[in-house]
Amino acid sequence: MAKIDIMGLDPSRTVVVATGNPHKVTEIEAILSEVLPDVRFVALGELGDFPDPVENGADFFENALIKARAAVDETGLPMAIADDSGLCVDALDGAPGIFSARWAGEHGNDDANNDKLERLMADVPDEKRGARFHSTVVLVRGDEVLRGDGDCEGTIGHERRGGNGFGYDPLFLPADTPGKTMAELSPAEKNAISHRFHALEDLAAKL
Ligand code: IMP
Repeated sequence: MAKIDIMGLDPSRTVVVATGNPHKVTEIEAILSEVLPDVRFVALGELGDFPDPVENGADFFENALIKARAAVDETGLPMAIADDSGLCVDALDGAPGIFSARWAGEHGNDDANNDKLERLMADVPDEKRGARFHSTVVLVRGDEVLRGDGDCEGTIGHERRGGNGFGYDPLFLPADTPGKTMAELSPAEKNAISHRFHALEDLAAKL
């Protein structure tokens, strides 16, 4: 990732986005620049190679706050935003939840995670396959902590379909797009209904 000199940034007009995913920066900027028009959104990775903090919070909010606070500490800039998200399945009492990324053991192994989900849901009847993606977004602004929460409701499919997106997208059928998995949506279609979109809208309403 190309680097930006922190010294050249105006601290009062810069929000560090604590993610390594450039798509999230674009998504966050598109929604929040309407309510924070003079602010520049900069990915943490553009400011240096900082270690990932340990995400040992008890819920999505605590983990997002850990990431946002770490970005403030690491860069010395006063404003940072982070999100934490995951899949919550009714028939599994809300699992995998905050453990979504590492549910099958290795962090970020989407295939293994989807194998596990398919296996655990194999005998669950259609009417009990409800689930949602949840996202909590946290903005740290000096001493202030603001949060936004969003869900994308849907059901767990019986087999994987689609090549877009990431994570559990091939097994998740959003209620907003009947018959299509999240992985069968274009990025624009997904962004219009996603949990992150709803969480950012919720945060934007508080700014
Ligand atoms: P993160 O907090 O955005 O890094 O997400 C943690 C984990 O939740 C990811 O590794 C995925 O397994 C799952 N997840 C979060 N958002 C999505 C999504 O939009 N589609 C599919 N899986 C997701």
